[in-house]
Amino acid sequence: MQKNQIVEVEITDLSYEAMGVGHVDGETVFVTNALPGEIVKAKILKAKKNFAFAKIEEIVKESPDRVKVPLRQSVQGGLASLAHLTYDKQLAFKKRQVVELLKKAHLDDIEVADTLESPLKTGYRNKAQVPVRTVKGQLEIGFFRRHSHDLVPLEDFFTNDPEIDRVLVAVRDILREYHVPAYDEEKHAGEVRYLEVRRGVATGDLMVVLICLHKDFKGLKEVTDAISEIDGVKSIFLNHNPQKTNVILGKHDYHLWGKKYIDDKIGDLTFEISPQSFFQINSSQTPRLYKLAIDQADLKPSDMIVDAYSGIGTIGLSAAKYVREVRGVEVVKAAVKDAKNNARLNQIHNAKYYAGKAEELMPKWADEGLKTDVIFVDPPRKGLTPEFIDAAVKTGPEKVVYISCNPATLVRDIQLFMDQGYTNSLVSPVDMFPQTPHIECVTVLKRTN
Ligand code: SAH
Repeated sequence: MQKNQIVEVEITDLSYEAMGVGHVDGETVFVTNALPGEIVKAKILKAKKNFAFAKIEEIVKESPDRVKVPLRQSVQGGLASLAHLTYDKQLAFKKRQVVELLKKAHLDDIEVADTLESPLKTGYRNKAQVPVRTVKGQLEIGFFRRHSHDLVPLEDFFTNDPEIDRVLVAVRDILREYHVPAYDEEKHAGEVRYLEVRRGVATGDLMVVLICLHKDFKGLKEVTDAISEIDGVKSIFLNHNPQKTNVILGKHDYHLWGKKYIDDKIGDLTFEISPQSFFQINSSQTPRLYKLAIDQADLKPSDMIVDAYSGIGTIGLSAAKYVREVRGVEVVKAAVKDAKNNARLNQIHNAKYYAGKAEELMPKWADEGLKTDVIFVDPPRKGLTPEFIDAAVKTGPEKVVYISCNPATLVRDIQLFMDQGYTNSLVSPVDMFPQTPHIECVTVLKRTN
């Protein structure tokens, strides 16, 4: 296959990144937006030694599972790269991904539950970070075309809470009105790089974060005043990111106006969330995810539990009333501060949160002789480290409840726990990210000796 060549190909599978997979003369071709069962004419965009990437020129035979997506551009941009597949088939796709990863690791004995559907299928995101650039002489918000930094202007982001889109557009208009320059990546100049908006779904509180090249710019005061007038906005920050980098946020947040956090609820607990603290993105599904995790832990009043990778303490605090003691660890200091504050706010007195790396604090606790009954872990995509797992096992938990946002590292870590005498019989995928290929799972490892 060669660049710009048009090939006719039958799509037989979906890759974990939701690309249609087909074969031409024994070589694999990944076709954006194509679905299994379809025959497409595709144009090769990039040809490698044994595989190529392509885009659809024409659908010759269409899948009955195809959904006509109004926001074709956003889908192509990767914002919602599974939106062209019916929701039921998205759930099946996610389950199958987990089944196949387990099979590859020779763990076919482990059952995989049907993916738990999300109550909201679109408009579910309670947080958005969108790039700001100049397009045709005008400041725009939007998304970067796949594999590029070309901004495609957009007002309806499809997976965002519609209230967030309303505020994004209102802030965009204010930046235009006050002639604030958008960031220029090539020249490393201008002011506003990204806009972040978060919403407490239970309270309606909105937070706006202007992510800027400089700490201050001409007209910032006027811009802040105007943003504070937007209906529902309760908190405004400036995040300072002076670096030449693709990383969105800089280290420092400067409080510009209003509250220093927004409030939200999970179940009957209230949480205060500051700008850099992690909070589960899909508020409609979070209580269901936590319920699954806590139910499977089968907690007892005498239990000592650990909440590792705790964020602002949402899992540990949700479990606190069922157990004797909660100990949490989280690397982001602001999140630990939030966790401590959230314990106080909800009058929970049996939970302590510590700042540090889980893979460093857990071994320290194990050396100090800590004994645990249940450990909850909720790590980022790279999963756990062997040091963490060794230390966790040393504290003797009867169960480890693993919440994972990456089934590949989950399967790897299940194996490491099995090597140390733990068993696993069921992995439950939970759809936290409808319209995207992202897969969240919950599983329990049980001690056998
Ligand atoms: N359990 C929380 C947060 C999960 S997200 C919730 O459900 O909301 C994962 C969290 O792990 C993030 O808050 C991130 O800051 C934190 N983290 C990342 N690396 C870490 C490490 N090495 N040690 C401890 N926490 C870490």
